[in-house]
Parts: sequence; structure tokens; C-alpha cells
Amino acid sequence: MDARRLAVLDAMGIRAYVPRAGTAGPLAGGVGAGSGPAGMDWTTLAATVRECTLCGLCATRTQTVFGTGDVHARLMVIGEAPGADEDRQGEPFVGRAGQLLNSMLKAAGFAREQVYIANILKCRPPNNRDPLTEESDRCLPYLRRQIELVDPAAILCLGRIATQRLLGEEAPLGRLRGRTFRIGHTPVVVTYHPAYLLRAPSEKRKAWDDLKLAMEVLRHGNSA
Ligand code: URA
Repeated sequence: MDARRLAVLDAMGIRAYVPRAGTAGPLAGGVGAGSGPAGMDWTTLAATVRECTLCGLCATRTQTVFGTGDVHARLMVIGEAPGADEDRQGEPFVGRAGQLLNSMLKAAGFAREQVYIANILKCRPPNNRDPLTEESDRCLPYLRRQIELVDPAAILCLGRIATQRLLGEEAPLGRLRGRTFRIGHTPVVVTYHPAYLLRAPSEKRKAWDDLKLAMEVLRHGNSA
């Protein structure tokens, strides 16, 4: 990281993570140089995430939040990052937003245990700030391996940040809804984050439309 970027982060009160000499750089794949989560089984992947020190969030987390649910799920749900409740309990979406997510899933015919839920980041950003690019760059390879292992029939991506980091789409979420994206062979539907829906309940109807699209994709496969 160059000195100017370090100074900017410093001025924002963000303690920048500087890789130790000889360890992986931001795009090196999430674990030590030369290796990566590619090919890891669930046990190794979970243990690697638990011990991860690839970004500065390891210093402030209570614990990592790996993911939960059915490892053979047809639907995978991807959020942004753990909040305070998740950091404490080690499970994604257990706070108020999680309760709303559970209701949304139930309305779509899924118990929480029937889907697989994970986040872009495995550790909580302090004060729930947005994930830094360097944090998501380092963490995303873990999520990519989780997607490979679950191999869901569809992914539901929650909110602007998760959509940006997962799909590289910068447009406002309102302009990305209603379309089907793709990660490899897996269709991806985007919708509002439940935390946003708690603040803007009038948008719940649109989120329901998005869930219906996801269900359609699950019914008809990639052609929806
Ligand atoms: N918000 C997220 O994006 N993920 C969680 O796990 C909790 C809240």
C-alpha cells in the first residue's frame, strides 16, 4: 500500500493492514502466498477462516463468522459482513436483519436451515462501517470456495455492497434488480439488504418481487 493511501486511511481513523513481508498481497487469493482456498474441503476451509489474519479485522473481531445452513442447499444467500450480534454469536444474520431475512425466506418456502447463508466478509468491520476493498479482496476467495462447495442452483445477493463486491456491479441496486446475473454457471438475483428494509419497509414489496424471481430461477434453472 502506498504512503498516500495509508495517510488517507489514517485520517479516516482506519488502521490499515500492511501485509508482513513474504505474505500474500491483496489479490493473492486469501491465504498464504502460493496457496489459496481453491480445492480446500469444508473442514480445512473453516479452520483456515477461523485462524485468518489476512486483514486488520482479525485484531478487532470476537470471532470469525464463517457461514451456516445446508451445505447442499439449492439457494445460497450472501450478505455483506457480520454485525455486533453475529460477531458475538459466530453466525451470520442472527440480529434484527436476520429475523427479517428468516421471514423473507419463510415466505419463499424455505426454512433458514434449508439455505446456506454467508457474507462477503467473515469478520465484523468496527462500527459496522462498509468493508474496505482490501478487506473484501482478501476475504472473497473464501466465499468463492464456499460457493463452489455448495454449488447452489441460485444465489440471492443482499444489498449494494455485497452486489458490488460479488458481481463488480457499481450501479445503484434499484437498477440491478429484476435481472439475473451469473457467477460461473450459477445464476444470481440481487435484492435489498434486510437492514435497509427495516429502515424502508415500503420497499419490502420490491424485495418480494426479487424473491419471486429467485424462486422462478430455482424452478426453471438458468433460463429464467
Ligand atoms: N448483515 C449482513 O450483511 N450480514 C450479517 O451476517 C448480518 C447483518
